[in-house]
Amino acid sequence: MRALPASFRPYGWAPSTDEIARLAGLDPVEVLRFDGNVPPEPPPSARPGAIAQRLAVVNEYPHGGYGPLVPAIARYAGVEPENVVLGAGADDLIFLVARAFAGPGDEVAIDPQPTYPLFGIAAGVASADVGDTAPALTFSCRPNNPSGDLPDLPAARPLAVDEAYFEYGSESAVGLLDDGVVVIRTFSKAFGLAGARIGYALAAPDVAAELRARQHPAPVSTLSAELAVAALADPPDVAPVLEERERVAEALRALGLAPLPSWTNFLFVPVDGARDLAARLLARGLAVRQFDDGIRLSVRDQADDDVLLEALARELDRPSPVPPGGGRRARLVRATAETRIRVRLALDGTGRVSVSTGAGLYDHFLEQLGFHGGLDLLVSGAGDLETGEHHTAEDAALALGAALDRALGDRRGIARYGSAEVPMDDALARATVDLGGRPWSEIRLSTEPGLAAHVLGSLAQAGRLALHVEATGHDPHHVAEAAFKATGRALRAALAPEGAGVPSTKGLL
Ligand code: PMP
Repeated sequence: MRALPASFRPYGWAPSTDEIARLAGLDPVEVLRFDGNVPPEPPPSARPGAIAQRLAVVNEYPHGGYGPLVPAIARYAGVEPENVVLGAGADDLIFLVARAFAGPGDEVAIDPQPTYPLFGIAAGVASADVGDTAPALTFSCRPNNPSGDLPDLPAARPLAVDEAYFEYGSESAVGLLDDGVVVIRTFSKAFGLAGARIGYALAAPDVAAELRARQHPAPVSTLSAELAVAALADPPDVAPVLEERERVAEALRALGLAPLPSWTNFLFVPVDGARDLAARLLARGLAVRQFDDGIRLSVRDQADDDVLLEALARELDRPSPVPPGGGRRARLVRATAETRIRVRLALDGTGRVSVSTGAGLYDHFLEQLGFHGGLDLLVSGAGDLETGEHHTAEDAALALGAALDRALGDRRGIARYGSAEVPMDDALARATVDLGGRPWSEIRLSTEPGLAAHVLGSLAQAGRLALHVEATGHDPHHVAEAAFKATGRALRAALAPEGAGVPSTKGLL
């Protein structure tokens, strides 16, 4: 085998989620990764239905290319299809560009440094040296990883610009393709498809053709290509991520830290003892990327980021910049062929509730239930709404029930029973809950919009609660909404802390 340069270091992965879970004594779903710079959830378009047509012919090679993908990328990037080269992630394209431009005896320049380690790795595998005397190729990462900043574009040519985080910084070198620049981008970051391993390079038509000639014949999976096409039909809105990034940066400053300005979905935080701090966070099931002089953390969403901020405050022995979480909580992901639902639930909450699965009215009803239950509840996900709301609404209720069951643990120290009556204009609902662990539902609604009784029954089944609901009235929406509110109120009473033992004369639930 041809020897690698003496300075070569292979890419170092962080520990797996299962390993972290073992280390922290958690269920893998409770591990929060802030080290991958990927969104906390896949895009709504990434569902089994999106790839069903491709699966039906997965025995075939992608004869004739990848259908609409290249034109869709060209439209998105504002270039022509002949400018586009597909690859199995930006990493694949970094390797392709390195070996196309550099070989034994050549130098590859990397500007700025420190940066993403793969440029040096790709140069090494191409048997080139890293140096800037007379480079055959220069790599530049804009915005840069790990600093998050947007460095000046080097004047050197040929130049490969890694724009993995382009969507967050919105500056691009794409206007320089005819000036010796190759742009490398990915679906792993803003598009949320890192596991699909798909990216693209943009280059002048002759350079793109030369790059394609150096690839193997079918460089990306047809399934991944289909996921990318589906994602491009509705490109991500990064505005909420940027807003959340600034909220996290502000909270870090309140902790006495000084995160660097960022044009990405992550923050580099200079800190003394960074490796030790990262190890202590890892022992809590929180993975950040560690460096000698700081940690790099990806922005997820408010609920997850607050967990990290609170843990950081504890580790640094400073007051928490966010309200304490703690208490009885659970997180859970339920994925079937039809739906993917993620639930984060805190029983001792303050009514911070958001349910967004796409099942319109039923999202609204579950929000009412969560709010009146005094829960902090985040339900997100996507389902096969093209078949109607049934699967999505049902699975959201099943996932919420399962999260409730998990958060209740051994069901010690709770009131166990609760009931409530809630009027809503013409409607009146009465709900009674027993959290004794035996699933049962008696739901009688005089009229309803379709799935309300079924959703409540599903919640009772998965939450292992007995739920009796009776609601009357004229307007189906009012009757159902009153029923969900009454269930929430009854649940709040049943969840209330009471005593320390198991609330049963049997001493066992
Ligand atoms: N470039 C940069 C700057 C990155 O940070 C990463 C991932 N961490 C990649 C490329 C890899 O992207 P992909 O998943 O598309 O291979």
